[in-house]
Amino acid sequence: MGASAGNQQGKLAGKTALVTGGSRGIGRGIAERLGRDGARVAVHYGSNEAAAKETVAAIETAGGSAFAIGTELGTEGDAQALWSAFDAHADGLDILVNNAGVGTSSSFTDTDEAEFDRLFSVNVKAPYFITQLGAARLRDGGRIINISSGLSRAAAMPEIMAYAMTKGALDVFTRNLSKELGPRGITVNSVAPGIIDTDNNAAWLRGEANKAAWESSAKLSALGRVGDPSDIGAVVSFLASDDGRWVTGDWIDATGGSLM
Ligand code: NAP
Repeated sequence: MGASAGNQQGKLAGKTALVTGGSRGIGRGIAERLGRDGARVAVHYGSNEAAAKETVAAIETAGGSAFAIGTELGTEGDAQALWSAFDAHADGLDILVNNAGVGTSSSFTDTDEAEFDRLFSVNVKAPYFITQLGAARLRDGGRIINISSGLSRAAAMPEIMAYAMTKGALDVFTRNLSKELGPRGITVNSVAPGIIDTDNNAAWLRGEANKAAWESSAKLSALGRVGDPSDIGAVVSFLASDDGRWVTGDWIDATGGSLM
C-alpha cells in the first residue's frame, strides 16, 4: 500500500483506479495523472517490475498513493490472476483503464496465426475478461476507459491491419458495454491516441536517425507536435471525473487533430 493517503483535494480523491500497462508509456501517463488527481492507483505491468516500481515511486513522490501488480496478459487465466493480485491490495474500484496493448510490424501478408492470436489475446480478449471479472468489483457510478487508437477510424493502414482490427473490436466492446453497465451509472468510453512518444514507437520515432520520422509525425497533428503520454492522461482524467458523467459509449479522438 502506498505510504501517502493521496491528494485529498484532488477531483478523484477517495477513488481507486486500475491502469493495465500503467508501468510505462501511455499507461504511465494515465497512472501519474490519476494519482495526481487523488485516486489510489493500481499500476499493472507484464514483465518489467522495475518500471512499475518507478511509476509507483513517481506517484508517491508527487503526493499520491499507488501499488504495483504484475500479470502477463494473453496467457490462460490472466484476468483471474490480475484480480487476485489486485484484491490483495484493495476492496473494489471506481476506475478501470484497459490500456495494456501490443503492436505489430507484420503486414497483411506477413501476419501468421501466432501473431494474429497474440494481438487479439492481449488487445481484445484480455480487456474483455478483465472487465467481465472486474464488473463485480467496480462500484456503481464507476468508469471504464478503453485505450483504442486513431487507426480504428483513420484512413486504412494495411501495413498494420491486424493491429487496427483489434482496436476496432475494442471500440465495439466499448459501445455494447456502455449499454450493459449504463443502468449502474457506469460510463464506458474509448480514447483514441494518435502517435505518442513511447517505447512502443522508439525504434522508428526516437533519436537522431529518426529525425525525419519525428518531424513528419509532428506535422500530422494540427497542433504540430508528437503526442506525450500526459496528453492522454488528461483526457482520461476528464472521463474519470464527475465532469465526464454524461459521456458514454463514445470514441474520443485524442490524436491532436491528426485525422483531418
Ligand atoms: P508501451 O510503451 O509499449 O507500454 C506497454 C505497457 O503495457 C507496459 O506497461 C507493458 O508492461 C504493458 N504490456 C504490454 N504487453 C503486455 C502483456 N502481454 N501483459 C501485460 N502487460 C503488457 O505501449 P504504449 O505505446 O504506451 O501503448 C499503450 C496503449 O496505447 C496500447 O493499447 C496501444 O495500442 C495504445 N496506443 C498507442 C499509441 C502510441 O503511439 N504509442 C497510439 C495509439 C494507441 P511490461 O513492460 O511490464 O510488459
